[in-house]
Amino acid sequence: MTNVGVNGYGTIGKRVADAVAAQPDMTLVGVAKTRPNFEAETAARKGYPLYAAVADRADRFAEEGLELAGAVDDLVAEADVVVDCTPSGIGAENAALYEERDTPAIYQGGEDADVADVSFNARANYTEAVGADSARVVSCNTTGLSRILAPLDEAYGVEKARVTLVRRGGDPGQTGRGPIDDILPDPVTIPSHHGPDVNTIFPDLDIDTLGMKVPATLMHTHSVNVTLESSPNADEVRDLFADETRLFQIPAGADIDGSGKLKEFAHDAGRPRGDLWENCIWEESITVEGHDLYLFQAIHQESDVVPENVDAIRALTGAADAAESRTTTEDAMGVGI
Ligand code: NAD
Repeated sequence: MTNVGVNGYGTIGKRVADAVAAQPDMTLVGVAKTRPNFEAETAARKGYPLYAAVADRADRFAEEGLELAGAVDDLVAEADVVVDCTPSGIGAENAALYEERDTPAIYQGGEDADVADVSFNARANYTEAVGADSARVVSCNTTGLSRILAPLDEAYGVEKARVTLVRRGGDPGQTGRGPIDDILPDPVTIPSHHGPDVNTIFPDLDIDTLGMKVPATLMHTHSVNVTLESSPNADEVRDLFADETRLFQIPAGADIDGSGKLKEFAHDAGRPRGDLWENCIWEESITVEGHDLYLFQAIHQESDVVPENVDAIRALTGAADAAESRTTTEDAMGVGI
């Protein structure tokens, strides 16, 4: 059994904690929180040992009736691997804490790539993280792009990818984010940071990305154009994607026209928090013109990186090979539609 600690219990951290707790070969030894808010309450109700992320705020947990198992240093000492799910930039500040105790650490996509030995996607480069001291699970968007680019490159060769990312302004709980009534080129400069981030996984891939931000909270949507070295037909691409467990092709007859219905579908399916761990690719959008493949996909920013974090734990500890880890993760979480 691998003992796993989760430092930072927000949007990503609470989902990673649940996914770890569901694995047959992992024990969640606790979660570290900065403050005793509703998420700390939920963690306590689930029976997850709570640790204080900031020592001088520990008293506030007792005031709210929440029992602490210790401070974050104690959590790091208990854990064989720590998954850092703190906000962008805090992970890098926490790195010394993990290094002092020689505890392997996993960081999230909001950190710069140099925070970790390797940037990680379970489908594309699992083996590069095997035995490393640290890995950075790339962002939700880079994860979504890596999952389609890896099989496309293996099957047909990718000559160049061009992607426009229409991004949600904030997560549903991020009430301070926007825009409220606008459509922003974001960033206005090209390429957006997403292409270089994809290059942390595929160093030789030719990719240009453009970013936009819209008044939405549910999901991101990618408009994808990949120029391939050969010219498969659209059905061959659909068959290729059908073999990929983390790609869901939205059937033409499903009547799912956007993120709203996708989330409704996920809730109806009984998915925890309405999560969609898979890329959601509109089957009908898959089109090939000569060597050019086109498609639309929606990415659930709050959850697609969660199975990748679980696989990153097994990669760092060498507990399983890529295929075995992905299958174990998916069976335990219920990934695959
Ligand atoms: P979040 O704000 O929802 O959660 C972060 C949690 O960490 C909060 O509970 C916060 O209180 C806590 N925290 C703050 N400082 C801390 C500290 N010093 N020690 C311990 N905990 C601390 O953020 P999030 O959306 O979960 O993002 C976490 C990371 O995941 C970021 O790197 C982000 O870029 C990345 N990420 C986010 C998304 C997304 O859409 N939300 C998607 C993919 C990757």
